[in-house]
Amino acid sequence: MKDRSLLMIPGPIEFEPEVLQALGAPTTSHVAPNFIEAFGRALEAMRKIWLAPEGQPFVVAGSGTLAMELAGANLVEPGDRALVLSTGVFGDRFEDLLSRHGADVTVLRAPIGQTLDLSQVEDDLRSGVYKILTVTHVDTSTAVRMPIREIGELARRYNVLSIVDGVCSVAGEEIWQDEWNLDVVLTASQKAIGVPPGLALLVASQRAMAAFASRETPVRSYYADWAKWLPIMQAYEARKPSYFGTPAVNLVAALDVSLRQIVDEGMTARFARHEQLAGAFRAGAVALGMNFVATEPQHRANTLTACRYPNGVAAGDLLPAIKQAGVIVAGGLHPEIKSEYFRVGHMGAVSMGDILAALGAIEIGLRHAGHVCEPGIGVAAALQWHAAHGI
Ligand code: PMP
Repeated sequence: MKDRSLLMIPGPIEFEPEVLQALGAPTTSHVAPNFIEAFGRALEAMRKIWLAPEGQPFVVAGSGTLAMELAGANLVEPGDRALVLSTGVFGDRFEDLLSRHGADVTVLRAPIGQTLDLSQVEDDLRSGVYKILTVTHVDTSTAVRMPIREIGELARRYNVLSIVDGVCSVAGEEIWQDEWNLDVVLTASQKAIGVPPGLALLVASQRAMAAFASRETPVRSYYADWAKWLPIMQAYEARKPSYFGTPAVNLVAALDVSLRQIVDEGMTARFARHEQLAGAFRAGAVALGMNFVATEPQHRANTLTACRYPNGVAAGDLLPAIKQAGVIVAGGLHPEIKSEYFRVGHMGAVSMGDILAALGAIEIGLRHAGHVCEPGIGVAAALQWHAAHGI
């Protein structure tokens, strides 16, 4: 029987049929004219999606962690000071990664479910001579969204390069890379970008490229060295053949299709759709008796929600029952609270129909796990939100 489960985890997500068709098309040479054209178009589309008309895009085969490494390896030299703003597991990952590249790392860690106080960030920036700071826009382990506009402003004021991990935000949450002074905004293909896993993507500001150009020591990673990839990106944009490492031809073809769809939707409309659907989902989750890991409403992400289990409900009872009802959600990820919550992704091609399906399946699962709630109450609350906000 065909498995028609709806995948509502925070990546990989459900992909558009045209994107999957491009992925399944016969593979061309990486220097075939039609592939060069597709790669060049994808790089141009990235500037529109990142809202970074002056930025330098990179697309390299690998996962989101490679995108983090592409930023860290190229901007850090041994002994450089780095400030890591951590709101969960992926913030902490940057501490380890930057240390490997020789950085002297200071971590500001928010209590689980909270953001960092900006005045604390400013105090730290004022007291230390940092070269870079990293911030996880939406930490997928907590669904906390950091105020990156304000952080970009602070970084610029203290002459620090800002690296934004946008793996769980780019093309879903509002980001204006240029206007918000963000030096690197990185992501991966499998989330709101809407392409199966396997591509690391980032856009670097001219300031970041200048900092890279003035390095005194070689980049410690061979594969991640921007010096290897910059001429390749420039060649594809100039519609010329080039080679360093074989690109993931089919994934790049799929990226070209997905980025075109994103540009066609328009960034403002896309940000608004994510905000509205997240609001509808959360209205339904509250009606079903759930609370959220992210404590402050204004810092809850629009790309995923981390729902705490209602009292008495166990993960082992709930998640399989939701799956049985046709929807796949993800378990907890943060090691300290892993057994207390689950995560629902709502990004990319997600629709109001998907939100209603997820809430319906969660209600069925909750009932199976012994939680009492009035039939249809979550779906009704989401529909009321929908009607009130005119999505
Ligand atoms: N950063 C964030 C915010 C993420 O959500 C993830 C993946 N869930 C990563 C980094 C790492 O990406 P990948 O798993 O593709 O290496």
